[in-house]
Amino acid sequence: MSIFSKIVKGEVPAHKIVEDKFFYAFLDINPVAKGHVLVVPKKEVDYIFDMDDKLLADMFVFAKKVAKAMKKVITCKKIALSVIGLEVPHAHIHLIPINDEGDLDFKAPRKPFTTQELESIAAAIADNY
Ligand code: 5GP
Repeated sequence: MSIFSKIVKGEVPAHKIVEDKFFYAFLDINPVAKGHVLVVPKKEVDYIFDMDDKLLADMFVFAKKVAKAMKKVITCKKIALSVIGLEVPHAHIHLIPINDEGDLDFKAPRKPFTTQELESIAAAIADNY
C-alpha cells in the first residue's frame, strides 16, 4: 500500500484539506511553497495516465475546487498545477501557489513550516472550500 493510501485511510497523519468519495487533498509534508497541496485518487494507481478517463477528469475538477479555495487564502498570482510522481508511486497532482515561474522548482530547498503553521494553513483552505 502506498504512503498516500495510508494517509487516505488515516493510518499515517497528514494535514487534510478535504475529501470526497473518490479523492483526497492534503498538504505536502515538504512544501515547495506555502500551501503546497497534493490531490490524490483514493484508488491507488501509480501513473496518472493509467487512470480511468472519468476518474482522471473528475480529479481535475476536484483539484480546481481546492485550487480556488487555496487562492482565497494564500497571497499569490496563481495556483500552478504539476504532475511528477517520481517519488511516490500513487498518482497525484501538486497544487502550488506561485508568483513567478521560478517558484515551481522541485529541486530548490523545500520550505520548512511548523506543525502549527501547517495546521492553520490546512484549516484556512478547508474553511474556504
Ligand atoms: P513526486 O512523487 O510527485 O515526485 O513527489 C511526491 C511528493 O509527496 C513530494 O513533494 C513529497 O514531499 C510528498 N510526500 C512524500 N511523502 C509524504 C508523506 O508521507 N506525507 C505528505 N503529506 N507528503 C509526502
